[in-house]
Amino acid sequence: MSKPVVAVVGRPNVGKSTLFNALAGEMISIVKDTPGVTRDRIYADVSWLDKEFTLIDTGGIEPESGDVILSQMREQAQIAIDTADVILFLTDVRQGLVDADFKVADMLRRSQKPVVLAVNKVDNFEKFMPDVYEFYNLGIGEPKPISAAGKQGLGDLLDCVADHFPQGLEGEEEDERPRIAIVGKPNVGKSSIINRILGEQRVIVSDVAGTTRDAIDTDVKRGDREYVFIDTAGLRRKNKIKEELERYSIIRTVTAVERADVVLVVIDAAEGVTEQDAKIAGIAHERGKGIILVVNKWDALEKNDRTMREYENELRRILSFMPYAQTMYISALTGQRVEKLFDAIDTVIANQTLRIATGVLNEIVTEAVAMQQPPSDKGKRLKIYYITQVSVKPPTFVIFVNDKELMHFSYTRYLENKIREAFGFGGTSLRFFVRERK
Ligand code: GDP
Ligand code: GDP
Repeated sequence: MSKPVVAVVGRPNVGKSTLFNALAGEMISIVKDTPGVTRDRIYADVSWLDKEFTLIDTGGIEPESGDVILSQMREQAQIAIDTADVILFLTDVRQGLVDADFKVADMLRRSQKPVVLAVNKVDNFEKFMPDVYEFYNLGIGEPKPISAAGKQGLGDLLDCVADHFPQGLEGEEEDERPRIAIVGKPNVGKSSIINRILGEQRVIVSDVAGTTRDAIDTDVKRGDREYVFIDTAGLRRKNKIKEELERYSIIRTVTAVERADVVLVVIDAAEGVTEQDAKIAGIAHERGKGIILVVNKWDALEKNDRTMREYENELRRILSFMPYAQTMYISALTGQRVEKLFDAIDTVIANQTLRIATGVLNEIVTEAVAMQQPPSDKGKRLKIYYITQVSVKPPTFVIFVNDKELMHFSYTRYLENKIREAFGFGGTSLRFFVRERK
């Protein structure tokens, strides 16, 4: 399921981090320990009443001078325009309005994206309201007074944000065509792969401006099958926005992955699997998407008959948290096996949407339980009554047991392995919920 994306844009010190923490609470995905990036949060999953969305903070580094502030705000705004469903423009009643705010407001207005204007640090509504009205001058609608630090006005603000969530998301859900995202760190060959795919004579390409997002999706028709490649415009764009800035590359990844069914995680064969690759793969994994690890530039390696097996072992060792991922070894340069990507995508899609009949599923689990006794604690043994598949994308199962506490992670993992042995499910993660039956 695809969640709306809300991007926060604003100058340094207006309170973006504070707002982010107030909204995301404990559930912050911290992307840390990355060279070149401060240990800060870039995105978080937020629940507000019955709504769920992904919040991204486009602001990063603290620039020194005013000129730099403006150019960085432009970049922030551009990334928000490219990736978000709703843009939250955050300003500060105490700093007041500056020239950069007007320029960014112009940019946002022209983009025609829904923008919500928040004025922060309104800790005392009576005192500051006259100053808040000043922000009407930005020409992007009614300024919403908030205090991020005092957690005031946040409910009204979120209501306003949620009003702009695209109804179209449900439409997108009904669209049966698989949505594919190509992700990976800079220079691994993402653009080359998409260009190679689009250059194949057997595909028919049409650019479709997204109705809800400016990001341009590309329809690819191959035989009687259709696919939608996400944000390929961004990939094909000549003057790529400073993609080398890791923060922006993560934001693009999160938002593209969020909208995708299957994610192609591209790795540079010559470089090997790096920590950054693992992090990017982790984003797709944690979101329950179909995953194909695409080792590109296979042409650039000196190979013998053991190379692929050795490479595969190393890859599996580093990415041991996702043993189910499919792998492909390709070269965008020579075109080697690029066609085969479509077969892999088809397989993953089929696995993501596979439904196992309850009877068969229970046979497998009963057999598994007979082969390896469930764990016990203080003389009480886990009993598994029943398992059933409740949904797809990713395939999700509910296991009914006598006592939830007795279900160890390792035993769930064991059952998962047995289910995979029986039904495959290659390329897709599986989810398990354990419930007690009284
Ligand atoms: P960022 O650079 O936009 O991420 O801003 P921060 O969240 O780091 O906040 C900058 C400063 O503003 C910090 O000292 C915060 O404590 C302060 N601040 C944030 N929100 C509020 C608020 O609602 N009221 C007041 N008075 N100060 C705030
Ligand atoms: P992106 O930043 O991930 O979109 O990467 P690009 O597609 O721009 O490619 C980065 C560099 O890698 C370019 O110089 C490409 O020519 C080169 N490259 C891409 N794919 C291959 C490949 O399969 N083999 C080799 N040898 N080089 C490649």
